[in-house]
Amino acid sequence: MSFFQSGFALTQPAMRVRFGPGVRRDTRAEIERLGCARAAILSTPGKTAMAEALAADIGALAAGIVPLAEMHTPVPVTEAALREVKRIGADCLVAIGGGSTVGLGKALALRTGLPQIVLPTTYAGSEATPVLGQTESGRKTTMTDPRVQPQVILYDAELVRSLPVPITVASALNAMAHALEGLYARDRNPVSTLFAVEGLRAFRAALPAVREDPGDLEARGETLYGAWLCGPVLGQVGMALHHKLCHVLGGSFGLPHAETHAVMLPHTIAFNARAAGALLDPVRDLFGEDDVGHALATFADKVGAPRALRDLGMKEDDLDHAADLVMEASYWNPRPLVRDEILTLLKAAWTDA
Ligand code: NAD
Repeated sequence: MSFFQSGFALTQPAMRVRFGPGVRRDTRAEIERLGCARAAILSTPGKTAMAEALAADIGALAAGIVPLAEMHTPVPVTEAALREVKRIGADCLVAIGGGSTVGLGKALALRTGLPQIVLPTTYAGSEATPVLGQTESGRKTTMTDPRVQPQVILYDAELVRSLPVPITVASALNAMAHALEGLYARDRNPVSTLFAVEGLRAFRAALPAVREDPGDLEARGETLYGAWLCGPVLGQVGMALHHKLCHVLGGSFGLPHAETHAVMLPHTIAFNARAAGALLDPVRDLFGEDDVGHALATFADKVGAPRALRDLGMKEDDLDHAADLVMEASYWNPRPLVRDEILTLLKAAWTDA
């Protein structure tokens, strides 16, 4: 099948991407390649050991570790990190971690113009997008700005081997959500579709193997490849109902990011499947089933994904309010949104009916 479209626009940010077990050991060479000599190593407070090991590899070019990253990039955290980055006189940022750490790097790049090298340790895909979400006074706002796009990404499968299986699975479904919604995006293009289909193929093939053996370096590498492919889809084309629902559930009800994506995905794609029509045919081919919602639910069960919002701490009484919030400033969606239908969908996801 050709994904050619007679008319399309595509903006591809410049990024250098390297894959390979152990490629993190080339971080020093990548810092030099950027013409830099004082790297601030960013991590979350819980992953300082990883940051310290990387700093040891980098040697004299590591100016210091800034282990302050938090989920959803709170602005006060960024400001504290900014003071530290200035204090140590950093001339580049090296983020090692998941979407939270990558988010801090992007927020700092926005404020300083410093170049970024990212070593992802989850599948969230933020490193491959010019998108930044920041939280201030309980409100999360998202912007797209080429200044936040990292210049270099080093995908080292050895770094994700320690990712616990439940986080691995949720994070993978988070990445697959970018690809699935990218397939029916209004502004999709042949390249975003190719990335989406290949990203989904990689996860479908390798995620069950990672679940069986989390230390399987080849399967870990394939899932990282999937994460890289799904990330630019999120950066290039508009997301729809699935991402809107997850932003509402995460932003207003404090549900965990990746797990919420994992629970919602079979429901939202089932909801949109008929309206998306043939655009989801590559998914039907990949999973060998016409009913894509059912295919994704079966896959989610196979890999042991969380399946119900109630298990993530969502209160049944809040579902009504969530449906209202989804209807406010809603994203474009292939199937027109009707409040009661959104509520029905949320109720089904709450119990996994
Ligand atoms: P995260 O970075 O908070 O990581 C999730 C958990 O996994 C944390 O507890 C972390 O300590 C742990 N962890 C990470 N790597 C590990 C490893 N190798 N071994 C053991 N434990 C490890 O979460 P995430 O799901 O990667 O990212 C979520 C954040 O990223 C959210 O704030 C979300 O909004 C943002 N995001 C942004 C974009 C974008 O394009 N801007 C895209 C996706 C996600």
